[in-house]
Amino acid sequence: MMTIQHVPARPSARDFPIVIVGAGMAAYALARELRKRDRDIPLLLVTADAGTVYAKPMLSNALAAGRDAERLASAGAAEMAAVLGITILPHTRVTGIDTAAHVIDTTQGPIGYGRLVLALGAGARRPQLQGDAAHDVLAVDHLEGYALLRQRLDALGRPAHVAILGAGLAGCEFAEDFAAAGHRVTLVEPARRPLAQLVPPPLSLALLRAWRALPIAVRQGSAVAARRAGAADTGGVRLQLDDGGTLDADLVLAAIGSRPNVALAREAGLATARGILVDGYGRAGAPDVYALGDCAEYESGAGQLLRPGVAALQAAARALAATLCGMPTPVEDEPVLTLKSPLCPIAVCAPAPGTHGEWQLAHEDQRSVARFVDDGGVLRGFALTRPTPAARRALMAQLDRVVAVA
Ligand SMILES: Cc1cc2nc3c(=O)[nH]c(=O)nc-3n(C[C@H](O)[C@H](O)[C@H](O)COP(=O)(O)OP(=O)(O)OC[C@H]3O[C@@H](n4cnc5c(N)ncnc54)[C@H](O)[C@@H]3O)c2cc1C
Repeated sequence: MMTIQHVPARPSARDFPIVIVGAGMAAYALARELRKRDRDIPLLLVTADAGTVYAKPMLSNALAAGRDAERLASAGAAEMAAVLGITILPHTRVTGIDTAAHVIDTTQGPIGYGRLVLALGAGARRPQLQGDAAHDVLAVDHLEGYALLRQRLDALGRPAHVAILGAGLAGCEFAEDFAAAGHRVTLVEPARRPLAQLVPPPLSLALLRAWRALPIAVRQGSAVAARRAGAADTGGVRLQLDDGGTLDADLVLAAIGSRPNVALAREAGLATARGILVDGYGRAGAPDVYALGDCAEYESGAGQLLRPGVAALQAAARALAATLCGMPTPVEDEPVLTLKSPLCPIAVCAPAPGTHGEWQLAHEDQRSVARFVDDGGVLRGFALTRPTPAARRALMAQLDRVVAVA
């Protein structure tokens, strides 16, 4: 078995026919899928971080369960290298790609590749805030961010008032998790209700009802400034909102979405839009270069599509592994995300932005089901409370089919 120690001085495409950049869930999913198909092909995984394996979705569910960052990690890079029989270069940033020469530049020197897979992920969007506490706003989108959050809460030594900017899936999950862990939460959201971009009002209401006994408030507005308030050692922040109001909190967390990491690809001359543009097979705009996971944006007949989330990256990794092993396989769509709320789980398949239509509500088998039906009567999205795999499958089967007479 290869381990992280066994890297030649100047690795070439002959040493590593497949090089994967990144060590998130997408990169490891691909390495696993490749190993299922080919036990021997040398694989090199190059990553800027430590290469620690953890389930990123647990970051917004870990506090109430009392899990610290160390307990979220399931394996280190050395263990993964041994288990998968791959080579991992941790703490190594890729700084450039020469697609013509098939070479990547890294902080450890150049590395040749036969085929290159970019699994660079996405970074949390940061709010543009004025004020001396703007940089104190946390974003928990990786293990280190979660460790810092725990550190700040522990240093406070008492239940905190946490302001969360953004009431989308991640913001709502953090809110419920913090509240269940004994903290008070204010969700600051430009819309009047949680999940406003994703579900119709009755489903937002179902979530608010489920939260009734929890100390969670929703404050309509956007933060424009964050200033230090209170004693320096308590680290309090006063948020100024766009309606002129203020909100005092012990800690501010941003959950306003993420941005695919495209800079490396763009500088290498690969086509990018919101993400690194790939075709239905994951191929980026240069020979032998592919992209996968949160950094990729798929071009399809229906337009360009980001496919965030674990189910989507696992489906993409399965297809890409087959493609890299000589069986070109298109990526299947896996567009459903789930609000991991223990009190009110909601599965969401959001309609593409700009789709004209309306939500139609139904109550089926003790769950609320909302179907987004376009002007031609075609099902373009859905959301449902208490989702089960069977209920999700049934709706997925109706997707893009006529479900109502226009
Ligand atoms: C709080 C939270 C909750 C979530 N909950 C859910 C959920 O419930 N369900 C769901 O499906 N999804 C959820 N997601 C989304 C899901 O976690 C992501 O879709 C998934 O983890 C993305 O994996 P990735 O490998 O594409 O990217 P990342 O995990 O971002 O990995 C990117 C990797 O690339 C490396 N890298 C980047 N640039 C370079 C470079 N230049 N050189 C070398 N290495 C580089 C990084 O070090 C990292 O290892 C959640 C996300 C968050 C933040």
